[in-house]
Amino acid sequence: MARGHGRILTSIWEDEDFLNLDERDQRMYLFLISQPNLNHAGLLPLTLRRWSETARHLTEGDVWNRLDALEARGFVVVDHADDELFVCGYFRHAGIGGQPRVVAAAYDAIAASASFTLRAVASIELSEAVAKAPATPPPSGLRAEVLRRDGWQCRGCGWSPGDPIPSAPSGRPLYRGLELDHIHPRLLGGPDSLENFQVLCTTCNTRKGARI
Ligand SMILES: [Zn+2]
Repeated sequence: MARGHGRILTSIWEDEDFLNLDERDQRMYLFLISQPNLNHAGLLPLTLRRWSETARHLTEGDVWNRLDALEARGFVVVDHADDELFVCGYFRHAGIGGQPRVVAAAYDAIAASASFTLRAVASIELSEAVAKAPATPPPSGLRAEVLRRDGWQCRGCGWSPGDPIPSAPSGRPLYRGLELDHIHPRLLGGPDSLENFQVLCTTCNTRKGARI
């Protein structure tokens, strides 16, 4: 169902990375995040021709250039094979972390996406949005590298968003998504590096806890 309104927190204007974008790229980001067909997971079908018709003198080539610039800076992830795009920061900027029903809708929308890679990217960001003590997220470039290296799935059990959630003896977790884990815990001095990050699902990460 198309949205009649979008919500965006004013704190986006305190986001250094956003403030450092070119004015045209900021317009494109705000354009994407306010689209009526953006779903609860922050996912949008790629409709370049239609998007190019929303401003005078805007061409499809311009839209591609804007998307490339946003992707290079970690503001969108584009899946060209599935013609779908994820608006990075959507959960954070829409402030949905504290709204269980919206989180559940986001979870369902992620599972329904045709894109294997975007499901993983969106799942990681959703996990960060629902975390009780939000960790400082790693730079988006590094996050993308870790996801690619680990095949967009849990390195512990192979689960990926959209897979069924196996029942565990201790009961199902209320939420399951992908998370970035510090192999050597940050509290014990583990660095924010490619080698020290791994993709785990909520279940594997909870089981691991702050152990090495
Ligand atoms: Zn797992």
